[in-house]
Amino acid sequence: MNTLKQRESDSLFRLYRRYPIEIESATGCTITAKDGTQYLDFLSGLCVNALGHSNDKVIDAITRQVQKYMHVSNYLYQEPQVLFAEKLKTLAKYHKVFLCNSGTEANEGAMKLLRRHGALRGKTEIIAFTGGFHGRTMGTLSLMDKPHYKDKMGPFLDNIRILPYNDVDALEEHINENTAGVVLEFIQGEGGVVPASPAFIQKIFELKEKNSFLVLADEIQTGAGRTGKFFSFEHYDVRADIVTMAKAIGGGLPLGAILTRNKIADTWELGMHGTTFGGNPLSCVAGLVVLEELENGLMHNVQKVGKFLHSKLCDIAKAFPDFVKSVRGKGLLLGLELSFEASELVYALFKRGIISNATNTNVLRIIPPLIITEEECDRFAEAVYAELSKR
Ligand code: PLP
Repeated sequence: MNTLKQRESDSLFRLYRRYPIEIESATGCTITAKDGTQYLDFLSGLCVNALGHSNDKVIDAITRQVQKYMHVSNYLYQEPQVLFAEKLKTLAKYHKVFLCNSGTEANEGAMKLLRRHGALRGKTEIIAFTGGFHGRTMGTLSLMDKPHYKDKMGPFLDNIRILPYNDVDALEEHINENTAGVVLEFIQGEGGVVPASPAFIQKIFELKEKNSFLVLADEIQTGAGRTGKFFSFEHYDVRADIVTMAKAIGGGLPLGAILTRNKIADTWELGMHGTTFGGNPLSCVAGLVVLEELENGLMHNVQKVGKFLHSKLCDIAKAFPDFVKSVRGKGLLLGLELSFEASELVYALFKRGIISNATNTNVLRIIPPLIITEEECDRFAEAVYAELSKR
């Protein structure tokens, strides 16, 4: 019998660099392999498993929903969708929610909304930024400057200008009355955990006043409490006009969302946008549990444990100035900028029973479940320290 690895490569597109383990089960912040080895999860399914794995309340909610109905289409009223949207808009402080299946689909829809809102006002250009990551569709790739993700797959969308991130002068130079919208991550995740500078955000909102365009915040990675606030833009004391969410809001099941104010939502008329699976009732009941946990104190854990982990990482940076260039990020979206390829450290941590992630070549991206404890962070920090000591 071939190994799972061989069977996988015989049958699936070769697109993912996978960790060399076969998963047996996962609970809390621990992933157990088929051979019994346990791994501490500092990846959380790429910012999805906010409540860790196999959360009892999520399992219970899904189980109860499965016994009622799983899919009926968006032609019927479904209470789970409404309950989820009501809770989300209350926490997020927006009027309307569009439910879809993924981050890229949320951004794709939000781009259409931006385009139409702009077109109705004679504005055509969308501004995005270098280092941003918004998805894998033709539309979202058009917002990105990542050559490997776009190589020979164009042509991409017109009327999009990608400016250097955190460059205030470039904003001044290129934003004008033709700008329909500005799309950004307030903390770039895939880009290497890079926060926008306060001056950069201030300039965007200053120019928004002058040119009346919409700001679209991609909170797919940073939203739902990951940075210690519900949205990462709240760290800057501003409010985006449109917000996209996904990842954590489905409690481990596929769910994406576009949020905005009534007036902007009304830009779309009946039937102008839609989806078959979006707002699937299973995803909504699971997501509702996540929102309730965030409402009931989970964000305090992110703030408290995030601070603890940040200070541990700063100690490591002080101890190894030759290897650690900076510590970045907020809450439980942290990055250790290294002077070498982060994948080397990821591999070494894996050997020590920790699953972590490298991004933008030299950044160790630290994204544990939001329920992580100080003890588990200690274990992680000790492993990083031990590995750097060996270099
Ligand atoms: N936007 C951001 C900021 C992301 O981090 C991601 C995924 O990593 C996406 C969009 C795309 O989301 P999805 O993979 O659910 O399509």
